Amino acid sequence: MESLGSRLRSLINGDVFDDLETRKAYSRDTSIFERIPQSVVFPKDADDVSAVVRCVHEAKERGEDVSLAGRSAGTDMTGGPLTGGVSLVFTKYMNRIGAFGDDWAESEPGVYYRDFERETLAKRGMLLPSYPASRQLCAIGGMVSNNSGGELTLGYGKTNRYIRQLEVVLSDGTQTTLRPLSPRELAAKEAQQNLEGDIYRKIHALIGAHEHEIDSAKPNVTKNSAGYALWNVIDKKQQTFDLGQLVCGSQGTLAMVTNARLGLVRLKQHRAMLVVFLSDIGILPEIVRRVLKFSPESFESYDDQTFKLAVRFIPQIIRQFGVIQMIKLGFEFIPEMLLVLTGGVPKLVLMAEFAEDTADEALRRAEEARAALDGLAVRCKIAKSETAAKKYWTIRRESFSLLRKNLRGLYASPFIDDIVVHPDDYPRFLPELNQLLAGHHLLYTIAGHIGDANFHIIPLMNLGNPIMRREILELAPKVYRLVAEYKGSITGEHNDGIIRTPYLPLMYGETMCELFAEVKKIFDPLGILNPGKKTGGTLQDIEKYMIKHE
Ligand SMILES: Cc1cc2nc3c(=O)[nH]c(=O)nc-3n(C[C@H](O)[C@H](O)[C@H](O)COP(=O)(O)OP(=O)(O)OC[C@H]3O[C@@H](n4cnc5c(N)ncnc54)[C@H](O)[C@@H]3O)c2cc1C
Repeated sequence: MESLGSRLRSLINGDVFDDLETRKAYSRDTSIFERIPQSVVFPKDADDVSAVVRCVHEAKERGEDVSLAGRSAGTDMTGGPLTGGVSLVFTKYMNRIGAFGDDWAESEPGVYYRDFERETLAKRGMLLPSYPASRQLCAIGGMVSNNSGGELTLGYGKTNRYIRQLEVVLSDGTQTTLRPLSPRELAAKEAQQNLEGDIYRKIHALIGAHEHEIDSAKPNVTKNSAGYALWNVIDKKQQTFDLGQLVCGSQGTLAMVTNARLGLVRLKQHRAMLVVFLSDIGILPEIVRRVLKFSPESFESYDDQTFKLAVRFIPQIIRQFGVIQMIKLGFEFIPEMLLVLTGGVPKLVLMAEFAEDTADEALRRAEEARAALDGLAVRCKIAKSETAAKKYWTIRRESFSLLRKNLRGLYASPFIDDIVVHPDDYPRFLPELNQLLAGHHLLYTIAGHIGDANFHIIPLMNLGNPIMRREILELAPKVYRLVAEYKGSITGEHNDGIIRTPYLPLMYGETMCELFAEVKKIFDPLGILNPGKKTGGTLQDIEKYMIKHE
């Protein structure tokens, strides 16, 4: 029998590689896992994607052990794009920005977000505000498939809010468009006698039959990428049914995304930042409560470890900027260096940024928020312009990349990297979380979206050490159980992948996970699209695919 690679080569216009060097180049993302794909395919267009999916589908029907996974920029922290099957990589050719409307733009999945933003700003003065902290590295396909969010999510929501329509390839190779459908359009889809018709009929019936379970399983938080977003499919107010909302955030397990029409917004032009230096975590909930009343556009944070590491890597940070910026930023960091030298590093730095149409208005709001903190034991500073705020943003945005690049032998290890609870639960939740972390002797940094109560805890570990790898398997379920007790989410934006899929029952319970398995079976009856993510993943997968060297 001809190899899968040769068969694919004869079917598509794009490239197919089977050599070990290329396969190894696509064996990692930014998670703690590695898997070498069987083949790496660079499709040229949606027809190529369709041909690959159809070929894998037919091979699976004949009993071959085959599957495929989409990959955009490969910056996922969960192992989401990693596969032992075909890695379908979009950044090489499927990187065209398409049509523009008044407040939307179309993009192929392999367009880097940074290029998309440059183009939408140039053409419309607008942008997609759900960009993640990896905005310089990630691509649109991954943002849609992870339902990414970031620093502006507090004010603007996650990627799913901006999906106008998705062009997708279903698991039998059919190409179709997903968008909000009226009841009449839905009935027409349901009448189709093919996989697409089956999907519409069965998902509609599943949601109808389990409305109560689905509603009550929804976590009590502002952001969630865990499981399948069944609660987003039907918009009761608009009377629409949109499978694009289910595919968004599904990590390529339900369909391959070949084009996305994405809504854009015009941001206010002027910003002022209230920076709060905090040493007593006990008053954090009160600070958050008071600051949120002033509706910051973003409300972010980083901890003392991140602070110290940033100071240690100042040369590397400032080297990324031009010479003049470098000199300016170098001077800006002097107070931080002094704090480290004198032992006065605050436990947490909070950054609340206020956006308005004029600089005066933005400053006024930041000052009002500062005044609201009177009487609390905090030190505050106002960064009056974006230049003054740059230092804080640099530390916040660059922390994970810095850790990945600079700590020899220690790997920035995301496995409890994206938990979310309701901000009202800080007073009880945080001490319990700290107690759990204290029981494990880990070096870790915490940065996050404090306004959404979304924490990125990134331990630094030597994965070559089996004791360290065991810590991961011991600590993850403890943290996730705690999050579940607070009806939080085990992932606000990074998604499930290899690392969290086995823990979804802790968050949602068995019944809801059975519904997720049913959803997967409806879309992908043969299980060829990124198997083991969202459903069917096991603890053995975590152990098997975890990186085992320094
Ligand atoms: C420093 C750093 C900071 C980060 N900060 C954030 C953050 O703030 N918020 C956040 O949400 N994430 C964050 N991430 C994680 C990640 O960067 C984002 O989720 C990003 O949007 C993923 O985009 P990507 O193009 O790299 O996707 P990939 O890694 O290529 O893929 C992500 C998932 O989508 C699937 N996929 C990709 N393309 C397609 C397609 N066309 N069709 C179907 N499935 C597809 C993949 O199989 C995989 O499961 C961060 C990562 C790093 C390294």
